[in-house]
Amino acid sequence: MVEEFDVIVVGGGPAGSSCSSFLAKNNVKVLLLDKAVFPRDKTCGDAISGKSLSILGELGWIKDLELLPRGEVSGITFSSPNGTIVDISFPKDSKQGINKNDKGNGYAIRREVYDNFLFQKTKKLTAKTIEGFTVTDVLTENNKVIGIKGISKDKKQIEFKSKIVVGADGSQSVVATKLGLNKIDFNHHITALRCYYDGIKDLRGTIEIHFINSMLPGYFWIFPLENGRANVGVGIVTKDIKDKKMDLKKAMFDAIENEPLFKDRFKDAKLSSEVKGWTLPLGSRHKKLTGNGFVLIGDAASLIDPFSGEGIGNAMTSGKFASQTIIKALKENNFSEEFLTEYETNLWNELEAELKTSYMLQKIGRIKFLLNFVIGKAAKKKEVQEVISGMLVNKAAKQKVMSPWFFLKLLFT
Ligand SMILES: Cc1cc2nc3c(=O)[nH]c(=O)nc-3n(C[C@H](O)[C@H](O)[C@H](O)COP(=O)(O)OP(=O)(O)OC[C@H]3O[C@@H](n4cnc5c(N)ncnc54)[C@H](O)[C@@H]3O)c2cc1C
Repeated sequence: MVEEFDVIVVGGGPAGSSCSSFLAKNNVKVLLLDKAVFPRDKTCGDAISGKSLSILGELGWIKDLELLPRGEVSGITFSSPNGTIVDISFPKDSKQGINKNDKGNGYAIRREVYDNFLFQKTKKLTAKTIEGFTVTDVLTENNKVIGIKGISKDKKQIEFKSKIVVGADGSQSVVATKLGLNKIDFNHHITALRCYYDGIKDLRGTIEIHFINSMLPGYFWIFPLENGRANVGVGIVTKDIKDKKMDLKKAMFDAIENEPLFKDRFKDAKLSSEVKGWTLPLGSRHKKLTGNGFVLIGDAASLIDPFSGEGIGNAMTSGKFASQTIIKALKENNFSEEFLTEYETNLWNELEAELKTSYMLQKIGRIKFLLNFVIGKAAKKKEVQEVISGMLVNKAAKQKVMSPWFFLKLLFT
């Protein structure tokens, strides 16, 4: 007998866990499947955005989150290709925006810890959760998705049926791939590496983003964690890596050993993990996210911010928006593409302007002269720092930066 559920969620990362939790809190019978056994690592920069915090707030989980081991950051440090460094604090008077808690500080939490926190909370709510279960295909009938099949931890092939399948299985989503919706466009796709270091000198309690020459048009990051540990990595648009035939790992270690900004800081630091690589499908293109009997969320839906590389917040936002449409679909007993498209429309209305602005900022980040100019101005002028600081926490301010007036103002500031 094939077991049946209202909804099957494939993937228990931030997208799948948040979607499952919102559904289960509304009495939806959810089956949550993940091929991993939690706690599991996820290759990431570990910076947790204000968007994520606001969804965690809606789920009522902020207080518990604050008990987790974490790094606290008070702002962002940028360095330009010509070596200018500027620290930009998060505004203290606003609790919204990226990386903010009541003290005005933000978080960096290892994904092994953060995702396990979300997953364990979710597991308590869902009708059934199976770890170590790898989904291998979607089941279809009369042009609609009616369930999934996969392999359990003890190597049994099992099928489950549902009214809706949610593909939350990350950037290499099996659900999206089987439905013909995971075509990679290397212009809208970043490849990134991440490792952990202990004992880097002069960690300044900020998220560090370094636009060093050897890594352009991408960047090198250092994000401080707990106990003197830091998340270190690099990321570049995949098309550029291919065009330049870059060896990303070699470029990262060359920078650590030879770049004047890092040489001394890393001299006595210890690499405390392996170097892992993974892909970031960007939200700078609009992908189809719904069809008869299914929706895609998180990285499976290609929603990562094309400038910052932040994807956890949008993954959780998409989980929330998808749950709202699914709840309506269950009430109306309508699981058609036409009905489920509401999710895609609502999500796009929420994210489109911000994603477009970030795509433009990504393009500006490709122009060395502009990077030197903007970071150079910010290093000298408090007013410019304040504009950028506002931009980090506020969608409207971010859009202002796209105005030609912003650049004219910069010229004369
Ligand atoms: C190097 C790097 C640095 C990044 N830095 C940041 C950052 O600092 N801040 C930020 O906000 N974002 C960052 N991102 C992006 C962020 O990691 C993703 O956007 C986020 O993890 C998306 O969440 P998700 O739930 O959609 O997917 P995932 O977190 O990838 O979760 C998918 C889940 O699906 C499961 N799964 C996969 N396939 C199957 C299958 N066949 N069957 C069953 N289960 C399956 C996986 O085990 C996993 O648990 C970074 C990404 C990379 C690669």
